[in-house]
Amino acid sequence: MKTQNIKAYGTAAANAPLKQMSIDRRDVTAKDIEIEILYCGVCHSDLHTARNDWGGTIYPAVPGHEIVGKVTRIGAEVSKLKVGDYAAVGCLVDSCRECESCKQDLEQYCLNGFTGTYNGKEKYLGTQTFGGYSEKVVVDEHFVLKVPSNLDLAATAPLLCAGVTTWSPLRHWKVGKGSKVAVVGLGGLGHMAIKLAKGLGAEVTLFSRTPDKKQDALDLGADAVVISTDNNQMKSVRGKFDLIIDTVPYVHDINPYVSTLNVSGTLVLVGYLGGLEPFLNTVPMILGRKSVAGSVIGGIAETQELLDFCGEHNIVSEIEIIKMQDINEAYERMLKSDVRYRFVIDMASLKNN
Ligand code: NAP
Ligand code: ZN
Repeated sequence: MKTQNIKAYGTAAANAPLKQMSIDRRDVTAKDIEIEILYCGVCHSDLHTARNDWGGTIYPAVPGHEIVGKVTRIGAEVSKLKVGDYAAVGCLVDSCRECESCKQDLEQYCLNGFTGTYNGKEKYLGTQTFGGYSEKVVVDEHFVLKVPSNLDLAATAPLLCAGVTTWSPLRHWKVGKGSKVAVVGLGGLGHMAIKLAKGLGAEVTLFSRTPDKKQDALDLGADAVVISTDNNQMKSVRGKFDLIIDTVPYVHDINPYVSTLNVSGTLVLVGYLGGLEPFLNTVPMILGRKSVAGSVIGGIAETQELLDFCGEHNIVSEIEIIKMQDINEAYERMLKSDVRYRFVIDMASLKNN
């Protein structure tokens, strides 16, 4: 198959900084859309992948799965978008489309494994997939999203991962008016969770370790902020929440949060992957019919539903625009929770370099 060589930013090893490199993109097939990338959000998963925190990273790795841009070419059978339209791509670029999950629009739970936008398998070229820290991307139209015309383009990018990852559990657990929702951690996912839960009519509380984020959380729409290191504040919300979305990226004790669930409440982990420490105490779960669950991103139809909802409610991410060349420093700041609340790369900085 014909390929085109383009500029990208990626890393050759877990302990190497990201730098400019060139990668091959497949040529546009009948169902493909080629998108010139204008903005790409910086997700904590990009950092986990670049540094092989989860194992399994194939190098070179080009992260980036919060992509917005402009359609530059379409295949002969594409009907979703036309050249010149704005378009978006999130964390998924393919799935089997035949299994029970795919048939239910749950491509993120594809029983044969979804193809990630990066570190997946490029089915035409046999290489790893390369993400949005690049000039362009070629994606099957099924996995391309339409962008609401009223939203700021750069601030829309984080909806493609941080947005849908928090939207999906809010929808699955049927959050609406009167629901009591809590969010753990005010970062990229956390700030979107607050805005979206609020948009759905819930009463929203933030759990944070960082007292000086309190005013921001209230400005984002939270009704209350609980400093998680303060036992008295934690006690004051015992038994309160219907749903808790925990976005913390690293291992932490979730037992204190389980205590703040209402009867039949659910704590859904979307951040940390791996074994919990200390052990999860089942007593409050059994005595209160409480659940601890997990959730990964969202399906394509659900992502479009989120984008349309954000268009209607004028919801976007709070962003700091950076240049592609600033990415290594941005990762260091993300590790210190020093992001308010999502870095978005202006991809012109790569193109013009
Ligand atoms: P982020 O912007 O870095 O935010 C994480 C927040 O968690 C921080 O702002 C901080 O909030 C809190 N935090 C950080 N380190 C902590 C620690 N050691 N202990 C307690 N709290 C800590 O990250 P993000 O982009 O939102 O991503 C969050 C996690 O979700 C990452 O692990 C990412 O890989 C994962 N993720 C999962 C999915 C999925 O589909 N399930 C999708 C995207 C991302 P405070 O300062 O308020 O405490
Ligand atoms: Zn992500």
